[in-house]
Amino acid sequence: MPNKKKHVYQEVDRLANLNKDVCTYLWDNPELGGTETKSSAYMRKLMSDNGFAVTNHEKLEFAFMAEYGSGHPVIAILGEYDALPGLSQKRDVVEKTPVVAGGPGHGCGHNLIGSAAATGAIALKNIMEKEGLTGTIRFFGCPEEELLSGKVKMAYYKMFDGCDIALSWHPMTANIVMDNSYLACAYAKFYFTGTTSHAAFAPHLGRSALDAMELMNVGVNYLREHVISDARIHYATDSCGFPPNIVPGKAVNWYCIRAPKMSDVKSILDRIIKVAKGAAMMTETDVEVKIEHGCCEMLPNKKFADLTYSVMKEVPLPVYTANELQYAAHLQSTVNPAAVKAENDTYGRVEILHSALAPRELAKSQKISASSDSGDVSYIMPMNLFTTACWPFGVAPHTWQASAASGSNFGAKGALYAAKVLASVGYELLTNPAKTQEIIQEFKDKKAEYSPMYQE
Ligand SMILES: [Zn+2]
Repeated sequence: MPNKKKHVYQEVDRLANLNKDVCTYLWDNPELGGTETKSSAYMRKLMSDNGFAVTNHEKLEFAFMAEYGSGHPVIAILGEYDALPGLSQKRDVVEKTPVVAGGPGHGCGHNLIGSAAATGAIALKNIMEKEGLTGTIRFFGCPEEELLSGKVKMAYYKMFDGCDIALSWHPMTANIVMDNSYLACAYAKFYFTGTTSHAAFAPHLGRSALDAMELMNVGVNYLREHVISDARIHYATDSCGFPPNIVPGKAVNWYCIRAPKMSDVKSILDRIIKVAKGAAMMTETDVEVKIEHGCCEMLPNKKFADLTYSVMKEVPLPVYTANELQYAAHLQSTVNPAAVKAENDTYGRVEILHSALAPRELAKSQKISASSDSGDVSYIMPMNLFTTACWPFGVAPHTWQASAASGSNFGAKGALYAAKVLASVGYELLTNPAKTQEIIQEFKDKKAEYSPMYQE
């Protein structure tokens, strides 16, 4: 059977230099979430130069929407561009060598996400023009994913309103479609206030906020036994700089709770709040709870995952040069061999860079055990998720090796492959309205309640 999307791949290939330029620019200018001045300006200009109408939001400086076309379906393509602290890394070296000591770096490959999403959107627009297709593409410039808050805020400010369906991807070590993924999570701060006093002269007059903070953590550590085993509870403490000779009047706990479903996160958070109040009561201090934000797990859409898989089966996989494979092999040699073996076992092949598409059955059982604010988007409209091999087997996200790989030639090839998948799935949605409707219907049938966990 002839491949009906060859012209889509060719259109993306025509944009290979553009894709490489975007990958490189974002990687060379890594910016932390909430500070994406250069990255968002660059992406806005790129989309506007390529015929998209850019809309900004007064409350969200680094977020934007770039739109082309008219009518339904309205397809959202999610682009990201924020970096991570401390993962600055030089290009083409095989040991940890920062460009700026302690500086940020693209250790999660969000430079590749931004690039592939933009390249895919531009290719799809060019094809729509040529073929006179109706429908709308909305490229979303999504900031601060690493803070798990960008898309939550965009949802809160209704930037996704009017969209029918969303396309998303992430760089990883394998070419695979995800059915369900991401842990739901919530961040909360607990501010304890006590009464300061001289720690030796009048300790009986003091009420220690630090005691309350510590007792809360003891209580939560006991709670761990009685929550679902897939839940994760992380915390950090801040004793507000009091020296030991003063009964501390202030102390803060910062919590992050994760679980497979937002409903679990919320019930665990409720119980943690009770523990905090108990600790305050025991120590005669006060506690103020501030829920910062949270994001949802991905709401699965089987029909959308099936469509993405059927499209991916036909998209030609990247071909690597000997030099690219050699560099990838060097990077792989620096990670824990157990991590490499685990991936060889999972995918049933010994590889440097994954050179196949993971079978549909395997894809159903794999998931990303981290959180992403993209989960919220899957509650607003049907969203797909796939990953492509941009890092060697064994390389974990948020490492210097992932930074290095995300700035490499083979990383850009993984992004170009992702752009082909995004454009091809988009083309399928535009030209096969019955299938698009089925996906939207599956989403509606789930009747998922959504209210962003965010307050101004
Ligand atoms: Zn990421």
